[in-house]
Amino acid sequence: MLNQRTIAKTVTITGIGIHSGEKVSMTLHPAQADSGISFKRTDIKDSEILKATATTVGATENNTAIGSGAGAVHTVEHLLSVLYGFGINNCFIEIDGPEVPTMDGSGASFLYVIKETGIQQLHKTKKFLVVTKPVEVKVGEKWARIEPCEKLIIDSTIVFKHPIIKTQRKEFEFTCENYINEIGRARTFGFLRDVDMLKRKGLIKGGSLDNAVVLDDFKVMNPDGLRFNDEFVRHKILDTIGDISLLGYEIAGKITTYMSGHHVHNVLCRKLLETPDAYEIVSATTLEKEAVQAFDLPMALAPSF
Ligand SMILES: [Zn+2]
Repeated sequence: MLNQRTIAKTVTITGIGIHSGEKVSMTLHPAQADSGISFKRTDIKDSEILKATATTVGATENNTAIGSGAGAVHTVEHLLSVLYGFGINNCFIEIDGPEVPTMDGSGASFLYVIKETGIQQLHKTKKFLVVTKPVEVKVGEKWARIEPCEKLIIDSTIVFKHPIIKTQRKEFEFTCENYINEIGRARTFGFLRDVDMLKRKGLIKGGSLDNAVVLDDFKVMNPDGLRFNDEFVRHKILDTIGDISLLGYEIAGKITTYMSGHHVHNVLCRKLLETPDAYEIVSATTLEKEAVQAFDLPMALAPSF
């Protein structure tokens, strides 16, 4: 499992954007080794190809956007998270609107589609970003740190003054199998009391109980309840993986976050990249077996969703 991956064939996914509320069609194409993940808006004439990297992120308010202004692609984080979850390093994505479809507010639909489409191994070795020195960022009370570790571990804490959430902490050791079983299906969440404010800002026009966990002041409003008791912190880990995948490599390091969001994740990525002695890029062949084994695909395992 040392080789880079892409999807086996072209596949189209349609849905609505959670913020725009507009219908959108997105086509994922296989891409060659070392090409990374990139987007192209097909609804804009002669639009440029937007490479998805930490430094091409143009907005981080309530979503992560690649590029800025009218040509940006918003809400890329759940799709990128699932691609990382399958160890897919290369994919070219055409999209006919400003936002990746939200589906059910988690990565479940992308997991399902990519599992059905299949994964193709490419003839080039994976590269890992190995953290060699701790880097930390703080924005108000929110913070995130990345430090040396032989594999990717995410230790996430969220704190909300809400009786259903309160403080949730989860330490997640990344493997493709763990990702599929524990993280990919966790949905985004929001509070009924914030709905008016977000709509006034032009956000969550497409939001509903079908694509988010919504909480009133006391309880979860979705009739089927939660998928996991700690679905909230699991979704935070899903978002974190999507955002840090923008480093562009498989990651060997421990990430600890406190009340973090897309902005903090992006600031952490940028600070790491600006600190050349805090990381090195190495071929998967030089790494301990365990770090690489995390990307073994559980083909025999049928994810339950
Ligand atoms: Zn999210």
